[in-house]
Amino acid sequence: MTETSATASPVALTSATRPRLRFAPSPTGYLHVGGARTALLNWLYARHFDGEFLLRIEDTDRARSTDASTRAIFEGLEWLGLQWDEEVVYQGANVARHADDGARMLAANAVYRCFCTSEELDQRRRDAQARHETFTYDRRCDRLPADEIARLVAANTPYALRFRVPEGTTGWVDLVHGQITFPNKDIEDFVVLRSDNTPVYNMAVVSDDIAMRITIVMRGDDHISNTPKQILLYHALGAPLPTFAHLPMIHGTDGKKLSKRHGATAVADYQIQGILPTAMLNFLALLGWSPGGDREIMTVPDMISLFSTDGLQRKAAIFDPQKLEWMNGQHLSLIALDDLLPRVVPALVAAGLTTPEAMAARPEWFRALIDLLRVRARTVLDIVRQAEPYLRDTINYDPEAVAKQWKDRSAAAELLAVARIQLASVAEWTPQGLEPALRTLAESRGVTAGKIFQPLRVALTGLTVSPGIFDVLVMLGRDRALSRIDTAIAYLR
Ligand code: GLU
Repeated sequence: MTETSATASPVALTSATRPRLRFAPSPTGYLHVGGARTALLNWLYARHFDGEFLLRIEDTDRARSTDASTRAIFEGLEWLGLQWDEEVVYQGANVARHADDGARMLAANAVYRCFCTSEELDQRRRDAQARHETFTYDRRCDRLPADEIARLVAANTPYALRFRVPEGTTGWVDLVHGQITFPNKDIEDFVVLRSDNTPVYNMAVVSDDIAMRITIVMRGDDHISNTPKQILLYHALGAPLPTFAHLPMIHGTDGKKLSKRHGATAVADYQIQGILPTAMLNFLALLGWSPGGDREIMTVPDMISLFSTDGLQRKAAIFDPQKLEWMNGQHLSLIALDDLLPRVVPALVAAGLTTPEAMAARPEWFRALIDLLRVRARTVLDIVRQAEPYLRDTINYDPEAVAKQWKDRSAAAELLAVARIQLASVAEWTPQGLEPALRTLAESRGVTAGKIFQPLRVALTGLTVSPGIFDVLVMLGRDRALSRIDTAIAYLR
């Protein structure tokens, strides 16, 4: 029997060792928000501690892996700005090394040949089930006499390699959970290489993590049960252990595991919905990490500098799309206008509200408009919706706005007519010029300014919510503003 040390503690990294982390998705679908969260926390760790963040595509499952999915992962990470260091590693390209590592463990007597066929194993599994027992491999092939093994090998009998799990316990100090220990009697002698020489998941991951010199393995805590097997493999391969960190699962607001029932789970869907990458990153970071205190809104540089392993959370994280939208609103105001424009402009064009030529004709006006609208928007699409009254010649009245602000139609029409006269007389079409005119009007009629502003806002924008009325008037410009009021009066009469 091979002696493998049964307990494990993280190898102390010298200060000269730069941490190396990886994100290792299986390309079998889109980039899921859970995967993106894991990628982000690995990336933040690497950026904070001046390490490397690597990307490994785990495509050994040829039947389920697709190029489209690999592309979706690249695109999602690129959209989020999670650049990886070094070249992408494709796990499928390393099967020869995986097999070599298996052979090395056989030579070191850490694994043994298992000649049991899958039919035999299935039968034993069914038998165990019938007896209401859980099936564990009974090590029968480890008890084969040497001459029998030699005979089977000489006869080219196919065999898998099984890990000979030693007695004792296997444990590690998890960065998130602290000490975790598994009794080895609960770990069956697991297959490392199948009879066709292909690696099982744990074998491929450990072989690659060793080859990539990964020092921190940070992944979802659904992998906790794999970790003791992986630790045994590290020992058998004579490699130092990385530090493990298992991030909490993500649940929906109902406390159940996040699924499509809860709304979009693909990062790309949020991109389409007009969520900013910085807001998405901020939101994802808080799914399993907290900077401490009640701080929530963070830029990417904030997150990099505030990152610490102490802030990694154990309890399941809650994915609340409404919170994401709120955060996005905060980030819309936070980011530099120059970074926002390239996201809003194509959306305005796609909505048919403007053309690149029209924008080029008055760039400052467009900048001012978007700067004004972003304050009250939660998504880029909100900005597009709100921009409509400023970019279209026709106006749509929101029925709710009409019902609320133009309840008495003839009174509203009369008020708008007076306001129009007042506005038309304003010499300087600026907030400073317009404000006294409307305030004087309110005073002369003995009403609050709001009684004038609200009906006027509906006339100008069709909406109940808009930027301040003077900003609206200025953005529309004198001619369009006055003609909007005329249209409203005609509509009301
Ligand atoms: N391909 C595995 C997954 O997507 C990687 C797990 C790991 O990080 O070790 O779950």
